[in-house]
Order: sequence, then C-alpha cells, then structure tokens
Amino acid sequence: MSLVRPESRAYRGRIAPSPSGRLHLGHAATFLTAAARVAVAKGTLIYRDDDLDRDRCRPEFLQAALDDLHWLGLQWHEGPDLGGPNAPYSQSARIDPYKEAFETLRRLGLIYPCHCTRSEVARALSAPHPLDEEPIYPGTCRPPDPATFKTPRSGVNWRFRIPVRETLTFNDLAQGKQSAVAREDFGDFLIWRRDDFPSYQLASAVDDALMGITEVVRGRDLITSTFRQLLIWRALEHPEPAFYHCPLLTDASGKRLAKRDDALSIHTLRGLGRTASELIGEVEKNLLQKQAAD
Ligand code: GLU
Repeated sequence: MSLVRPESRAYRGRIAPSPSGRLHLGHAATFLTAAARVAVAKGTLIYRDDDLDRDRCRPEFLQAALDDLHWLGLQWHEGPDLGGPNAPYSQSARIDPYKEAFETLRRLGLIYPCHCTRSEVARALSAPHPLDEEPIYPGTCRPPDPATFKTPRSGVNWRFRIPVRETLTFNDLAQGKQSAVAREDFGDFLIWRRDDFPSYQLASAVDDALMGITEVVRGRDLITSTFRQLLIWRALEHPEPAFYHCPLLTDASGKRLAKRDDALSIHTLRGLGRTASELIGEVEKNLLQKQAAD
C-alpha cells in the first residue's frame, strides 16, 4: 500500500459516460455534481470515454455526449477531445494496461476461467438479486482454493474469486458508511470476457488507478460495483479513491431515467428550446429533493 493518503493528493475527479445512447438529465445530474466537486477542490476533471461495450457503443454517441455536455457548460481538463497526459481517454484504445492488470490477478491466483454460459448462470438462480443487475454467480467453475491457471486469456470468461462472506465497507461522502457481504450481495464477477475484452469492473478500476483519480463521483446504481472494484484495487495494491454516489433522478412517474427513453435526453430538451440554465435548475431541484428524502 502507498503511504500517500488520498486527501493529501491534489483532487482528481472524472466523468465516464458510455457512448451507447443519448445522455439524459440523470447523467447531467451526476456529471454536474462531479464538476462542482472538482471546482470546490480546485482540482482536475477528466472525461473518460467508457466505450468497451462494442455491441452498444458508437462513435456518434461520443460526439453527441461531448456536444451536449459542452452545451450544458461543463468543462473538463483532459479528455478524448482535448488530449492530456493520460491519453488515450477512450477505453477501447487502452487495452494494454488492462492486460497487464489481468496478468497480475492471474499470477496472484485471484481469477479463474469460467465456461458457464449466461443462460446457465441465470438458470442456477432462484431469484435475481435485488441489490444490482448482475446475477450472483453460483460458483460452478470456481476453484476451491486460489489457483493460477495457464489457460489462454481469450475464448473464455474469467471471474474474480471473491473472499466469500467477507464484509466490505467504504465511506460514501454522500450517504455515509456502506457495506456489503461478498457472496451474499454480489458474486464472483467478470474480469475478462471471452471476446478478449476486459470487463467494466477491471477497466474502470485500472483507469481510475492509472489516471490518479482521488474521488469517484457516479450514480448510486454503481454502489455494488464499487465493492467489486475495491477488491481489484486491493489486489493491485493501489490506494482506493474516495467515493460520492449521486442519487438517481426519476421521471414524473417515479421511474429511473434510462438511455432507452429519449424523452428526457438533453438532445431532445435542447431541440424543444430549453436553455442550459433551465435544465441545470431542474436537475438541481430534483437532486435537492432526493437528498432531502434520504
Ligand atoms: N460508464 C458508466 C455509465 O455510463 C459509468 C461508470 C463509472 O462511473 O464508473 O453509466
């Protein structure tokens, strides 16, 4: 572990949109919060382009996101459009450090090849887990003890062997102490995919480490991912950042905003003649209501 405590380093934050659709007001809320926290700390904001999901990500959505966020008045210091000392900022162009981290985890005996198909995992479940969307892996391919597998990296899924029943905790700067029990709240999770791409968990943890991020601001839907990423940081001996998980905005019927409903996309609202300051005001009001309800 490094002796440098996160609070003694200059603040570095990030926003990490996936270019898989138009951004909506929920994204705006999270990214405006991230930018405000950077501004208060007089820190640096990085725009990271989370474009690893090849089936859903498209370059035109990156362009649209950059454009919508600039229109909102958001400014970042490093990113795919600006460059910077941590370039490239698109994850699809950063595969080497992920491979290196994969090999470290392999050497440590912390990951194993998994031959189960998605439907086999789904069939083994009694009910989807309420905490998050990823099903808890039933452990079919999990070795009884940590083990180093020589299997080639590609062509098979690789999972992280979590410390079963260990309670993991972190202090969320928005919501206080958070805890989860490994195997009860989340299972052995994907590290590398059979199509030879890293998982979101690995790529995000590696980039936040390499880009020197001191505070991760993102939506509350990713709290369970934070526990997974804590395990990756611990294994890679990297000090963990601080966390601030933003409330998720809902529509008038109380449903969480999603990229698939275009109604509240920044693009649509812009087209209707709404101004950036109106939208920011709306987002702020909605966030304050959520915070008061906590
Ligand atoms: N790329 C993710 C998203 O668009 C965010 C990931 C993160 O902030 O770690 O929801």
